[in-house]
Amino acid sequence: MSLLHDYLSTSWQQAVKESGYSELFIFIIGTMLVHSVVFWGMNGVLFFFYSYNMFPECRIQGKESPKKSLTQECLKHCLINHFIVAPITLYFGFPIMKAAGMSVSGPLPSLFVFLRDFVICVIANDTLFYWGHRLLHHPSIYKYVHKQHHEFKINTGISSEYAHPVEHLFSNLVPVAGNLLMGSHVLVFWVWLVIRIGEIVDTHSGYEFKYSPYSMFKWQGGADRHEFHHSHNTGCFGSFTIFWDQICGTDEKYNQYRARKDAKIKLKQAEAVSASSDSTSISTSASASVEGLATAVGQVGQSLREGGSSSTQDSG
Ligand SMILES: [Zn+2]
Ligand SMILES: [Zn+2]
Repeated sequence: MSLLHDYLSTSWQQAVKESGYSELFIFIIGTMLVHSVVFWGMNGVLFFFYSYNMFPECRIQGKESPKKSLTQECLKHCLINHFIVAPITLYFGFPIMKAAGMSVSGPLPSLFVFLRDFVICVIANDTLFYWGHRLLHHPSIYKYVHKQHHEFKINTGISSEYAHPVEHLFSNLVPVAGNLLMGSHVLVFWVWLVIRIGEIVDTHSGYEFKYSPYSMFKWQGGADRHEFHHSHNTGCFGSFTIFWDQICGTDEKYNQYRARKDAKIKLKQAEAVSASSDSTSISTSASASVEGLATAVGQVGQSLREGGSSSTQDSG
């Protein structure tokens, strides 16, 4: 393990040195690449799913889609955000990250440090996201900032980045809080970014996949909760975990909604089972009747033949 770590660490340092690029350039281009590849990659796959109505049983709000004009506006917004706002934000964010202890050309941290930083990132992200998000829903400020993100009552992956500029600033600060706190290596920051962007696209995808890494366990957030947040505009302010929502009781309405939804699913399954058992019993009784009929026809035929032969004998 240590040999592999040493090899990867030396290779990384060598690659940075031989590239001849500055740390600032590597930070900006690397971060933009990670952001764009994950975001557009996942949304490309989702676009395919929406277009061909794939996995309809996993679509949270059925076949419904957001308005075309809103989707076009969102797409324009995402492109501006990715290719104009992001490089400017990263340019000004770099000295802050460096001051917090971020290393770009330095040796790679150990696996323990990677995992430790991810745990801190999730805790910092969830706490800031929950309270910041809840504040954005305060009636006195909701209409000025967060209302824009809630124009989507039915989500698609790209709606995850549709927000007011002030919210963008807030959304850019929240995920890096853990990295700032720990002075994470740039590679830790990039891997964390993959996890975080994956999470926001997944929770806005409108799909609830059984094996999504973001909703496999009961303590995780996931797409169904965030879709409820958009369609009902109440509660479920959390992100990766349901921790703060549970502590503050802000997901009670969602829990009631989910219980009703699960009960409906169970009822449908039970109806399907009883319908299939009914059809089995009908087909069983039908085949029994056919068998009975065949026996009866056989018996009648035999008696007719017997009767026929006796009549032949009689006439002969
Ligand atoms: Zn909201
Ligand atoms: Zn949202």
